[in-house]
Amino acid sequence: AKRTGRMKTMVFSDEHERDVREAALLERTMREADLEAEFFLTFQPIVDSNEDRTLLLECLARWQSPVLGLVSPGRFIVAAEQSGFISTLTPVLLKKALEAIKQWPEEVGISFNLSGHDIVAAEKVLALIGILMRSGVSPSRVEFEVTETALMMNIEEALANIHRLKEAGVRISLDDFGTGYSSLSQIQKLPLDKIKVDGSFIRDLADSEASRKIVSSVSALSRDLSLSCVVEGVETREQLDILQGIGCHLIQGYFYSKPMRETEVDAFLKGQSNL
Ligand code: C2E
Ligand code: CA
Ligand code: CA
Ligand code: CA
Repeated sequence: AKRTGRMKTMVFSDEHERDVREAALLERTMREADLEAEFFLTFQPIVDSNEDRTLLLECLARWQSPVLGLVSPGRFIVAAEQSGFISTLTPVLLKKALEAIKQWPEEVGISFNLSGHDIVAAEKVLALIGILMRSGVSPSRVEFEVTETALMMNIEEALANIHRLKEAGVRISLDDFGTGYSSLSQIQKLPLDKIKVDGSFIRDLADSEASRKIVSSVSALSRDLSLSCVVEGVETREQLDILQGIGCHLIQGYFYSKPMRETEVDAFLKGQSNL
C-alpha cells in the first residue's frame, strides 16, 4: 500500500521514539549493572592467510544482562557511546582483555576497540595506559582500533591522545576504513600502523568489479604508506581467493572464525598449522 508523506513521518517518529526509549532503557540498566560480572569479551582471530597463522585477536564485547538477556554491542555500545558511559566500561573491558592475553602465546596480540569518548580526554587515555603498564603485558602485543567517527569528536585532542598511546608502545589501527568521511585527509595526520577495510566492501566482492577495485586501491594505498591492511568480514573461500589475488593477506571474518569465547581460543590456536 502507498503511504502518504504524513504517514511516513509518523512511522519514522514512532521508530525514532522507540529507539530513544530503548537507548534510555539500556543506559539505565547498564548504570545499575555489575560491569565485572555481566560484561565479557569474545575474541576473533585476525589471520595471516599466507601462513594460516593468527596474529591478533580482536576483542569484541558482549553483555549478559540478568534483566535483558544477551545484548549485542550493536545495541549497547551505541547506547553507551551516546551517554558517554562507554568511558566507564572501557577500562573494565581492557583489564579483561589484558588478563585473557596472558594465557596465549607471546606471538599473539590483541586488538581492542576504543570509542570517541575514550580518546577525547587525556586523563582517560592516561588511565588506559596505566592499566596496560600495570598488567605486565608487553605493549608490543597490544593494538588499539579507532574509527574516523571517534576521531571527529575532537580531532585535536584525539590526535594528541593517539600520540600518547603510540608513545606507550602500542599500535594504532584505523577501523571501518572507507565508511567515514575525509578518510584520506585523516590518515596522513595520524601515526597509524594499520587500516582495516570495512566488511561492507567484501560482501559483494565476487559480483562487483567496483568493490574489487576499491579494495585493491585501498590495499595499494596502504602499501604506499607502509601500513598493514586487514580486511574484515571475509566469509567465503571465494572472497579469500579474490583478496589473495589482490595482495591482501591479513584476514578477519567468519571464514576463519566467528568471535569465540575466551575458553575456545586455545583450541583454535592449536588447530592452526604452525602451532
Ligand atoms: P567492529 O569493530 O567493526 O567489529 C567487527 C564486527 O563484525 C563484529 O561485530 C564481528 O562479530 C562482526 N564480524 C566479524 N566477521 C564477520 C563476518 O565474516 N561476517 C559478518 N557479517 N560479520 C562479521 P560485533 O561483535 O557485533 O561488534 C559490533 C561493533 O560493536 C564493533 O564493530 C565495534 O564497533 C563495537 N564494539 C564491540 N566491542 C567493543 C568494545 O569493546 N568497545 C567498543 N568501543 N566498541 C566495541
Ligand atoms: Ca573493530
Ligand atoms: Ca571494523
Ligand atoms: Ca563496524
